[in-house]
Amino acid sequence: MNFDIARRRMIDSQIVGRGVTDRRVIEAMQKVPRHIFVEEAMSAQAYSDSSLPIGDRQTISQPYIVALMSELLQLTGVEKVLEIGTGSGYQAAILAILANRVYTVERIRPLAMRARKALDSLGLLNVNMKIGDGSEGWESEAPFDAILVTAGAPEVPEPLIGQLRPGGKLVIPIGTQHNQIMVKIVKGADGSITREKSIECRFVKLLGSCGWSDEI
Ligand code: SAM
Repeated sequence: MNFDIARRRMIDSQIVGRGVTDRRVIEAMQKVPRHIFVEEAMSAQAYSDSSLPIGDRQTISQPYIVALMSELLQLTGVEKVLEIGTGSGYQAAILAILANRVYTVERIRPLAMRARKALDSLGLLNVNMKIGDGSEGWESEAPFDAILVTAGAPEVPEPLIGQLRPGGKLVIPIGTQHNQIMVKIVKGADGSITREKSIECRFVKLLGSCGWSDEI
């Protein structure tokens, strides 16, 4: 399988074909080899138009969703970004190209370890990783210019709003455990909050003290 050709087709049909226009996002998606973020047995499906299992009942998000969320953040290259839900590390790799520094939090240790390996193999040294409850953010590294939550939450976790710099953007899927709406939150210079709805989506649950409880 020629992964370069598969990736180019993915960009044309799934990313540009669905209306993503941010050149930097398109270039980052072209650069990052998605197949190294999935198990070898699944690498032939790495450029398909879908999320894929990555173990521990978690998923790597659909390429279009990764592109859309990245575009919504309107990154220019100077930002300090927080990602909640490292998963495979693929979204963190895209953010590492689009921003200056990335901080990413994952609650499942084996996933975080695999993601670290994949990111290191690409030489993406501007990604800091922590294992823990990302619904509480990463207080000691705040404030962030942008925050991306890649798991579905019942509501916006308060600590994340607090850790967003004035002028910063937060993108998060909000809704039930089965369906969410992608929401973009912008914090004004005066601390005011505006919310904009994007598309409907379906993510695994954001668990934790400011997310869903583990038992549900
Ligand atoms: N961004 C990932 C990628 O590029 O592969 C996809 C993330 S996957 C859809 C959601 C991830 O969020 C899972 O790996 C899950 O373990 C993680 N997660 C759920 N709740 C979390 C929490 N409170 N803190 C950190 N990670 C969490």
